[in-house]
Amino acid sequence: MGGASPPDGPQGPTDFGSANRGNEILAQPTTPVRPQPTPDPELAAPAEARPDGWRAALRDAVRDPAELCRLLGLEETLAGPLAERGAAAAAGFPLLAPRSYIDRMRPGDPNDPLLRQVLPLGEETDIVEGFAADPVGDSAAELTPGLLQKYEGRALLVTTGACAVHCRYCFRRHFPYGLAPKGVEAWRPALEAIAADDSIHEAILSGGDPLTLVDATLAELAARLAAIPHLKRLRIHTRLPIVLPERVTDAMLGWLTGSRLAPVVVLHANHANELAGAAVEAIVRLRSAGVLLLNQSVLLRGVNDTADAQAALCERLVEVGVTPYYLHQLDRVAGAAHFEVPVERGRAIVAELRRRLPGYLIPKYVQEIAGEPHKTVLT
Ligand code: SF4
Repeated sequence: MGGASPPDGPQGPTDFGSANRGNEILAQPTTPVRPQPTPDPELAAPAEARPDGWRAALRDAVRDPAELCRLLGLEETLAGPLAERGAAAAAGFPLLAPRSYIDRMRPGDPNDPLLRQVLPLGEETDIVEGFAADPVGDSAAELTPGLLQKYEGRALLVTTGACAVHCRYCFRRHFPYGLAPKGVEAWRPALEAIAADDSIHEAILSGGDPLTLVDATLAELAARLAAIPHLKRLRIHTRLPIVLPERVTDAMLGWLTGSRLAPVVVLHANHANELAGAAVEAIVRLRSAGVLLLNQSVLLRGVNDTADAQAALCERLVEVGVTPYYLHQLDRVAGAAHFEVPVERGRAIVAELRRRLPGYLIPKYVQEIAGEPHKTVLT
């Protein structure tokens, strides 16, 4: 999870997730029309058997809302919401959902919590006061192109604009990714800025999703960061182990755990139903490799805004070896107002969690306020 982003640029949301937004790597075209099935030999074997199978799985992700509804038997139920305004939302920020993620949705349920996170709806085109392109002040925090620093001791690299899933509430859905560096060499000014500030002890790879970059790029970037003596930790913000678990390969674990920097992975799961099947296997592999695993989620109306849903998520996270870290109040990004849960309701949910669960299962309920020196704890 980018977990963070800048102002609307000329490329704007229509460029989100497009091939020219990412680095040299990835590049799944995110047109709303699903590509024709391709006789890709990589798809003939199970993804886990292919070191590069994740790229084939990403190429095969669903990009057409009509196809998504067909797969779930929802053509008729969702025909209304998907008409004109839903199509306008998808045109501005295309649907993108891997098939293994769709497999975890409940067929026939238009309110499925995973479906709601990815299906473009007409509400996204509503203009709502207080919801803006850069809700968390990314542009003001930029030190060099693509390098953000908001908090002492940490610096964040927006490594790519590409993701494996397009979360409709993404606070970086309007980030001008086209202006960020492309390729390791282009990161030289950012790396020099980190090297020049010995108060920075942690580098965070974010995006978009950094794990959409190929391992050769990430290994080179990790090596250059490890060469900066005052850095101690390498943190990755990613949703791929959840939505595209094939991405957790030996090569990925190699560069992540192979340097002197302590590896930290902050996952992004919002609902217990996401933590199933191959996603759990990916988490176990990360954990077995010695990676510190944390999770951040976003409080989302209609997805996880009940104490039951939050308790199930926290229980499931700890069951598979991930510490619940943050529960974010929604960042007020334009297009996501319909996901907002009032803070008072969020507080009540967390109070109920405290009653039901041991303290170590409860994430901090926080809000990012632009310009503040740390996240604001809401309870
Ligand atoms: S994974 Fe989702 S929340 Fe994270 S940057 Fe991509 S679209 Fe945004």
